Amino acid sequence: MAKVEDPICHMIVDTDRARAKGVYRGETVYFCSEVCKSRYEAGQTR
Ligand SMILES: [Zn+2]
Repeated sequence: MAKVEDPICHMIVDTDRARAKGVYRGETVYFCSEVCKSRYEAGQTR
């Protein structure tokens, strides 16, 4: 169990309880919700 920061809303998210997560460039990113995940993906620079 670990706590990480949602990169969109800066809420602290527990990795076990994250509502959404994704792997970007080999790094797992956790989000508080699917909304933040889609916002992250929309703003993702490649
Ligand atoms: Zn969020």
